[in-house]
Order: sequence, then structure tokens, then C-alpha cells
Amino acid sequence: MPITLPDLPYATDALAPYLSAETFEFHYGKHHKTYVDNLNKMIDGTDEANASLEDIIMSADGGKFNNAAQVWNHTCYWNSMAPGGGGAPSGAAGDAINEAFGSYDKFREEFKAAAVGQFGSGWAWLVLDGGKLAVMNTPNADLPMKHGKTAVITCDVWEHAYYIDYRNKRPDYVETFLDHLLNWGAVESALG
Ligand code: MN
Repeated sequence: MPITLPDLPYATDALAPYLSAETFEFHYGKHHKTYVDNLNKMIDGTDEANASLEDIIMSADGGKFNNAAQVWNHTCYWNSMAPGGGGAPSGAAGDAINEAFGSYDKFREEFKAAAVGQFGSGWAWLVLDGGKLAVMNTPNADLPMKHGKTAVITCDVWEHAYYIDYRNKRPDYVETFLDHLLNWGAVESALG
């Protein structure tokens, strides 16, 4: 069964003005779709044609790993944002952030530094590491499951994620992600 491009969890204009429908037209409709199409071309007719995306990610390397991981990373990214998201969390997510980082402000500072400081293309992550929340970043298509950690939310810091709406200003995009987009509901779900 081929790998499919998942539906977005919201309309393409749902995160405007922070991320425009034009960004979704390219980032989801072209970049994410191309990773799906490339991966399917690579696994068609092979033993991996019926493998799960996660199994391919854990066993593949080179171009097959890059495309499989980018399919997974983008799906995680769309689910990491929600209309009305961002800001300091309350409830279980707020408690877990305070326990892991000391305060929301410390978390915000650490996540921003990881996202802005990732040289070149990559991803900033909130992960579960041994049951505790932590921040990490990865270059290119690399992702937490390759490092024994569980992804909770992610911010795409490849230029294609922000160039239409923010041009070269990655720090502005990352601050907008933290203040207006971060889906704390997804964090609550991951905490169980
Ligand atoms: Mn991307």
C-alpha cells in the first residue's frame, strides 16, 4: 500500500495571518506531497512497499530515509499547530512544562534558541525523553525516533517553511510559532 499524503487538520487559511494559505499551497501541496511521491517511487515493487512509514524510517538510509523522514516530520508539524494556539499552556501541559524547564519563559527561550540556532535546514522539537519533556534540534530530515526519543511537537525551520510569510526572518517566524500557533492540545495528548 503506498504511503499517502495525510489531510491537513485544518483549512489552508486557518492559521492566517501567521501562516498564509499561499504557504500551505507550497509547503503542504508541493513540498510535503513531493516527499510522499518520491518515497512511493523508491519503495514501489520492493519489500518495503507494504512497510509502515516508521519501519522505513528506522531501517532506511540515504534518499529513502530522507524522503520517509520528511513525510513523517511534516505530518508532525501540521499537527503541532492549531488556530488559537501558542502562549503559555495551562493544565497538564503547563504542569509538565514547569516541571521540565522551571517555567514557561525558560521553555520558550530554550525552544527559540534551538530553532533559531539550527544551522541551515532542520527542525526544532519538544520531545519526551525518558518520560520527561525536553527540547532538541535536528539537521535536514533527522528526527527524534532515530535518537530513542518521542516527538511531541515540531517547528520546521527549513527556509521553505517561512520564506513566503517571513522572508529571511527565522526568529520572527519561530516567535510566531511559539506565541500564536503551538498546539498545546497535542502536547496534552502526548502526555497521556
Ligand atoms: Mn518543510
